[in-house]
Amino acid sequence: MAEKTYDVIVVGAGFGGSSCAGLLAKRGLKVLLIDKNAAAGGKAMSLSKKGFTYTAWVVIGAPVEGNLYQVLLDELEVSDLAELVVPEGTGSIYQTPEGKYIRMPKASSNQLDPNIIFEWLDIPEAERGAALQFFVQLTMMPPEQVKELEGKNLGDWLLAAGIPKPLYAFIVSLCCDGMFMVPVDSLDAAEAVASLQDIFTRSGGIFCKGGYGRVGEAYCEAVRRYGSEVQMSTRVKKILVDEGRVTGVSTDKGDFKAPVVISNAGLQPTVLKLVGEEHFDKSYTNYVRDLVPSYSLLGYRYFLSKPVTDAPFGVIFNDDSPWTLERFSKARDGDAPRTGVLYFEVPSNYDPEAAPEGKQILMTGSFCPPDPKLSKEEIKAWADAGEAQVFGAFPDLAACIESKELYTTKSVSNATRDSAVPGAGGETIGLGQIVGQCGDSKPSIRAPIGGLFYVGADAGGTGIGTQQAIESGMNVADAVERYHHLRKGVA
Ligand SMILES: Cc1cc2nc3c(=O)[nH]c(=O)nc-3n(C[C@H](O)[C@H](O)[C@H](O)COP(=O)(O)OP(=O)(O)OC[C@H]3O[C@@H](n4cnc5c(N)ncnc54)[C@H](O)[C@@H]3O)c2cc1C
Repeated sequence: MAEKTYDVIVVGAGFGGSSCAGLLAKRGLKVLLIDKNAAAGGKAMSLSKKGFTYTAWVVIGAPVEGNLYQVLLDELEVSDLAELVVPEGTGSIYQTPEGKYIRMPKASSNQLDPNIIFEWLDIPEAERGAALQFFVQLTMMPPEQVKELEGKNLGDWLLAAGIPKPLYAFIVSLCCDGMFMVPVDSLDAAEAVASLQDIFTRSGGIFCKGGYGRVGEAYCEAVRRYGSEVQMSTRVKKILVDEGRVTGVSTDKGDFKAPVVISNAGLQPTVLKLVGEEHFDKSYTNYVRDLVPSYSLLGYRYFLSKPVTDAPFGVIFNDDSPWTLERFSKARDGDAPRTGVLYFEVPSNYDPEAAPEGKQILMTGSFCPPDPKLSKEEIKAWADAGEAQVFGAFPDLAACIESKELYTTKSVSNATRDSAVPGAGGETIGLGQIVGQCGDSKPSIRAPIGGLFYVGADAGGTGIGTQQAIESGMNVADAVERYHHLRKGVA
């Protein structure tokens, strides 16, 4: 049988791959989008079971205003297929130094109001003026000043600001740890400040009915509606290269030809496995090998006999929650507590159809290393630390559990990217948004092989995971469209 030929093959229907494929199909290129899973969405895929529908794990979208999920749903004319919802307020819980769990007071909007935060965190009156000034400086910082923070770490910048400890914990644990999943003393300050500005001025906490995977599935449907092809349940085994140029892909369902391949399978797996080291200079493969992934989350899906909270989502944290590189390394080695920040999400509190009448699903996520090969003992130790927090904050929870499922770094890797370097594969975001991997130092979307591009959280975007994957999809679509037309012009 003759191999089919396309203008572009996109490997992976995560938010990066599916958005990029949709845009290119709309612009008239002949696209083949391939994914190994049965459904799109990658790290933000939807699942359903026994009348429950949910994103596979805690995925909190941000910013709300001007979010790219909706921008692309509209641009691709598939907003009928995915409905975004913004629940009122959060259920975030601060554990006081005395051990009391205090829920964030309700605000009139999802905009984070500093005065409500100060009250909640019991910031002394005398310190509130300086704390407010910090918020003003943070949210009003002009882009050129934000850019100057590139290459500096957020931890140092926050320490220099001298903010009260609970406020530091709020900024780091509630906002940055979850948005970036890297320790604050490694996190690129420019990337972090720009995203903090986004969530303080454009709100945070947006979800999709039926789980976030619906957004990726809608982008895939756009590919079909614009006359291109999507092939799910198909694993790409090799990206084919001849004389330094891509020629197509080899899959478990046959070979497909294209002069351009866009990989959403992760930069490290793409270079080291799908293409193969032999096609790159040693210096490039060394660079790729040295790239650092984000940390990971593991947690439980608790299927409950009755509702235990009206909170749609939230964070449980205390003054000691923020992760630093040193504390995380010690915790990994069992020399420090594994307790950090815990995220939770309750889909039926923003989507009434997410659970059978009278029941509830509550999902949790807390930090762990990205290694998909964590031992059973390591998994248990990290999972127990998270479970103690959620049981502390929701004392009625344990008695209402009908069943529970643990997801781990292995589940994340199986659903998304292969492990290509030791200790990596189960990362939550993608490559870590750390100093040296952001801004001008972010990996290029172009590989040093003709016609090979990367899309998704690893290259081409900024900000919180799902948003940066879509931003990357948009940027890579522009670059590939230009590349395609230039090549056609000279062919
Ligand atoms: C536990 C968890 C919690 C998260 N929480 C949040 C959150 O609160 N907010 C937020 O914004 N983001 C969150 N994220 C991160 C966010 O989901 C990701 O950063 C983003 O979705 C990554 O998109 P992507 O396009 O880079 O690729 P991915 O989602 O990794 O998709 C890659 C796709 O490529 C496919 N693929 C890989 N290899 C092959 C192959 N060989 N052949 C065929 N197909 C292949 C995979 O099946 C997958 O569908 C979370 C992620 C996890 C795991």
